[in-house]
Amino acid sequence: MLQMQFIPMPKNSVKTVVTIGPASDSVQMIKILLEKGADVFRLNASHNDLDYHKRIIERIRSLEKLMKLDIPILLDLPGPKLRTGKVKEGKVNLKIGEVYTFGPNADIEISSSIINKIRIGDTIKLSDGKFELKVISRTDSTFRAKSLDYGQLLEDQSINCEHLTYEKEYPTERDREIIRFGLENGVNCFGLSFVSSAKDVMNVRKLTGEDSILVSKIERPDAVKNLKEILSCTDVVMVARGDLGLNVDISKLPEMQRSMIALANQAHKPVIVATQMLESMVANPIPTRAEVNDVFTAIYEGTDAVMLSEESAVGNYPIKSFVMLKKLIDSFDNKIIQKPTYKMENEEDGIADAAVLLSERINVNNILVLTSLGGSAFRLSRYHSDKRIFAATDKKSTFYRLSFGRNIYPLLFPSLDGFKGEAMHKIKNLTDADKIIVLSDSFVEGHKAKAISLLYL
Ligand code: PEP
Repeated sequence: MLQMQFIPMPKNSVKTVVTIGPASDSVQMIKILLEKGADVFRLNASHNDLDYHKRIIERIRSLEKLMKLDIPILLDLPGPKLRTGKVKEGKVNLKIGEVYTFGPNADIEISSSIINKIRIGDTIKLSDGKFELKVISRTDSTFRAKSLDYGQLLEDQSINCEHLTYEKEYPTERDREIIRFGLENGVNCFGLSFVSSAKDVMNVRKLTGEDSILVSKIERPDAVKNLKEILSCTDVVMVARGDLGLNVDISKLPEMQRSMIALANQAHKPVIVATQMLESMVANPIPTRAEVNDVFTAIYEGTDAVMLSEESAVGNYPIKSFVMLKKLIDSFDNKIIQKPTYKMENEEDGIADAAVLLSERINVNNILVLTSLGGSAFRLSRYHSDKRIFAATDKKSTFYRLSFGRNIYPLLFPSLDGFKGEAMHKIKNLTDADKIIVLSDSFVEGHKAKAISLLYL
């Protein structure tokens, strides 16, 4: 029996990851986001305490039950990121030329491990590089810095400076605590901030288990260098442009995004393009033309998903930002994409390639794939065609993994054994088509076979 309520899949289905925060955490807001088709909710554990996140997880889960929906909650771990702490009254209005003290109980709180590394004359960058300050004096436990910019600095923002390096331990002690919290609260999808290598990913997997969904955030130069090996053991990757843009020459970002998407597609792993997609909508009800182009470019380049961060978490227009993002996704015409070609690395790659080719040759618009871990579905979706991919699985973790994949409509069944009858009837109800291509394992005279069939509905 199918467990989900089915909402018709739109023609273009690049997935959306929506960060929930103070601007969007009410029952009402989450309900609207679910109704409007959010695919993944993200909770950023770098902000707010775990009691807060527990309340939001419960809120999301009870709404889903009510609405007969089920979507992954991505709990984003802080990783070894360097951050400021509390500021008086939750925000400080930085003024050019004004001097601020950093330290315990100061204007801007900050850990002693960071203070120890800061030198007089350093330029520090706060909040993804939005604000620069020059360090003018220091004591053993504090330093003072003059602001070169103006604007509103919130709590727990990133701090970068040439003398600050990342902790080596991965995951950090705090990450371990948050992973335990996630697993205890039914969340097994984690964002791995500042991973540097496959070993980091595998260290987390040891704690989270084989069924977990790990989203590796690529935001350090060493992670860019090790992307191929990270792709071999992660479930999803994120082009985390906020920190990446600080850690590499920003002019290299467009080319890096394009090649990271291409590598993820080749490795048939879903990829999310994140940060500042509609940044101006934090304050304004409409995006800039440049942001509209940015979303279009990410989709054109083959991303599986796009993400809202501050826009939905702390912005003035969380729903408007989401509606705009969906509008941009829906108005994208897949036909303008030249069909990508991939290196065929194994038989599975070739079979998926053949199924997509067949669907084009005989003009069949729907493909059904039966999948245990999701790989065969991602091999189909990386062609970014107009074909709808129904991916049926009997594993909840795979169902969640599939939720990140472009054009994939995930379906959860109690079992895939003898998958036909009623299940096929339900799929027929989801499409007005009279034919569907089915990609599945089967047996021919007792031998395992991979079959591409044309099924008449
Ligand atoms: C980023 O840096 O782009 C990112 C997604 O990470 P965070 O929002 O946790 O800083």
